[in-house]
Amino acid sequence: MSNPSSSSSSSPPPSSSPPEHVSKADCLFCKIRDGQIPATIVYRDERVLAFKDIGPKAPLHQLVIPLDHIETLAEAAPAHEALLGHMMLTAAQLARDAGHGDKGFRVVMNSGVGAGQTVFHLHLHILAGRSFGWPPG
Ligand code: AMP
Ligand code: ZN
Repeated sequence: MSNPSSSSSSSPPPSSSPPEHVSKADCLFCKIRDGQIPATIVYRDERVLAFKDIGPKAPLHQLVIPLDHIETLAEAAPAHEALLGHMMLTAAQLARDAGHGDKGFRVVMNSGVGAGQTVFHLHLHILAGRSFGWPPG
């Protein structure tokens, strides 16, 4: 007896399928990456995504995240070395693109509750457009 639903011939996934990334259920930034929560996306490539921070602390406030879910910088591994460098260079490019390359900008990565991290998907803040104090609060 033939049963079409149990056919052993499976078709390959369409070549336009989006790549799968390391994810964590209920992660806010994984949901932004997947388009499940809206954000103002400013840059995307095969490794990172950048979008405007919803609560800007400076005239320019964008976040660069890895597409893969990594919770904190403390958990980053040697295998992430190139990715972390790419995040920094992406931040610098975005700051330059927004006209802050010469005037100056700040990048911040909070790692852990004690440092003020509130979203546990690694992210680099890019802040620019005002003066910044030192040491940071
Ligand atoms: P941190 O405190 O270092 O973990 O930074 C988390 C950042 O994510 C904060 O600056 C928030 O304003 C920002 N944020 C939270 N929810 C959203 C969202 N839905 N879209 C964009 N940025 C967000
Ligand atoms: Zn995530």
